[in-house]
Amino acid sequence: MPVVADLHIHTDASDGLMSPDAVVKKASAMGLRAIAITDHDTVDGIASAVRSAKASHLELIPGIELSTDTLGREVHILGYGINYHDGPFLALLQSLQRSRHERAEKMIQRLSALGYKIELSAVLQHAADAAPGRPHVARALVDKGYFNSVTDVFHHLLGYNMPGYVERFKLTPKKAIEAIHETGGLAVWAHPGMTDDDSPLPSFMDAGLDGLEVYHPHHTESQTTHYRNLARQNNLLITGGSDFHGAEAGTTRDLAHCGLTSEDYTLFIRKIRK
Ligand code: AMP
Ligand code: ZN
Ligand code: FE
Ligand code: FE
Repeated sequence: MPVVADLHIHTDASDGLMSPDAVVKKASAMGLRAIAITDHDTVDGIASAVRSAKASHLELIPGIELSTDTLGREVHILGYGINYHDGPFLALLQSLQRSRHERAEKMIQRLSALGYKIELSAVLQHAADAAPGRPHVARALVDKGYFNSVTDVFHHLLGYNMPGYVERFKLTPKKAIEAIHETGGLAVWAHPGMTDDDSPLPSFMDAGLDGLEVYHPHHTESQTTHYRNLARQNNLLITGGSDFHGAEAGTTRDLAHCGLTSEDYTLFIRKIRK
């Protein structure tokens, strides 16, 4: 069954390589019915994506991906149908972006001590107008010839708890779910298979979790089946997407590599509109 909606997409407003406008045009050309832009900790790409989508027959769902921390593990929470003009929500995102700038400076010091010399300006150049993330640091390391690819950098240096890994301020999953609800959105546990432990689910549901991202490129077939059943058993919404970052991001699958079929998308959009 063909994918009609890709609900997990990054643009150059965070660490993706394509502009929101280019992503919309690409999705439109592929014949998708809907996409959600879900940049890390920012809604800066949404307004221009909405504008571009108006000129096409594509439904654009405003989204976000919030990085959270629970019991020393990183959990990502997706928000869908959020109000991207909401003052308090924007203020929260600002504080998360500040923590990204502080972390970038710390990472550069840490990397220097490990023998990898890169300039903050090089990282910020990769980030352009976005808040710096690990992929921007990784691209600067590749430019300097220290590694062959962004993936290599993550494997050796910047992956979770690797020598170049630096913590930053993160919300708890509960706070992220509440913030998404307060701004009118639905909260979804992103790629639960990457945590590969369902034990936090009851606490996320107590906090009001609305759905599970069942379809994601990192999920095996058996994980996909597992999360699909888990969602059904717990009356949670089913979502999915490619986690697209653009053609050269090193984490890459193409747009619509994963996503929702017409049947799942109908259930999703019905709930969003309620
Ligand atoms: P940050 O939000 O700055 O901590 O960076 C997280 C982002 O880094 C993810 O959303 C991915 O885009 C990227 N990333 C994480 N792990 C890897 C990996 N193993 N290879 C390539 N990119 C990765
Ligand atoms: Zn990313
Ligand atoms: Fe994620
Ligand atoms: Fe993502």
